[in-house]
Amino acid sequence: MFGVGNPDARLMFVGEGPGADEDEKGEPFVGRAGQLLTQIIKAMGLERDDVYIANVVKCRPPGNRNPEPDEIDACSPFLQAQIASIRPTVIVALGKFAAQTLLKTETPISRLRGQFHLRDGIAVMPTFHPSYLLRNPAAKREVWEDMKMVMKKLTIDD
Ligand code: URA
Repeated sequence: MFGVGNPDARLMFVGEGPGADEDEKGEPFVGRAGQLLTQIIKAMGLERDDVYIANVVKCRPPGNRNPEPDEIDACSPFLQAQIASIRPTVIVALGKFAAQTLLKTETPISRLRGQFHLRDGIAVMPTFHPSYLLRNPAAKREVWEDMKMVMKKLTIDD
């Protein structure tokens, strides 16, 4: 599964990898976590069609296990190509795998989030994954703080 959305998007979301629902539909973020992501996008005043949505790994890790390092490495050139083609102003890295892969770091997501990190001239905002928010709704407040910074940056760099 590749990605979906606007090829001219200024905002790109990168998740971890497809789950069972995504595998079935052939589209990223269409299950429960995906519905929450759609709500977040709408709360930002945007639609899914305005943004681009992709994942670090393009195939579903069996049994919803975490992606293995060799799987991340195998899929990285595709993610690089997607980023190079879309050239967004901001990338929101959803969760540990997206953030650590994009920023080439092992720093925990809880420390990465809340500020922009420059990656090849693109502002990357790490934030908690929507699946984490389903388990920890209280963390929605922090994600919203992060999204407000993203909205501000998109306005300033218009
Ligand atoms: N979680 C992800 O990280 N990506 C998807 O596409 C769906 C759920």
